[in-house]
Amino acid sequence: MGIIHLSVERFLNPETLQHVEDKERKDLITVLRKGLDYLYQTCPHNIDYTDKEDRGATCSICGIGFGWYCPESPDKRCHYDFRTQDGVTGIRLITREILPISEFSINSDVYNDGETCLFCGNPEERK
Ligand SMILES: [Zn+2]
Ligand SMILES: [Zn+2]
Repeated sequence: MGIIHLSVERFLNPETLQHVEDKERKDLITVLRKGLDYLYQTCPHNIDYTDKEDRGATCSICGIGFGWYCPESPDKRCHYDFRTQDGVTGIRLITREILPISEFSINSDVYNDGETCLFCGNPEERK
């Protein structure tokens, strides 16, 4: 971690990058974008609700937002609909897995309208 941090710091030094050739610049941008995509795609995502003012479900590691924070939901984000993935229907967790309907309790008759959170009952559109 320390070594990676140091080399990234040095690498991203504006003075180092200032005189990069066009071809090298293009290659660097490609590599950095790929690395960034990979980091986002492999982030385990963790919604850490520490800021009482911020009602958003934001990953404390990569900073991606997942809509509203939900105290009732298994992954702490609001869910409005079910997904089917590999033949399993349930909610799609922030970890990208599908949690089957049978593994959580919701009142789908009341809430399954696609606009209301299946867990806390709050609407997707909030003021
Ligand atoms: Zn993340
Ligand atoms: Zn909710």
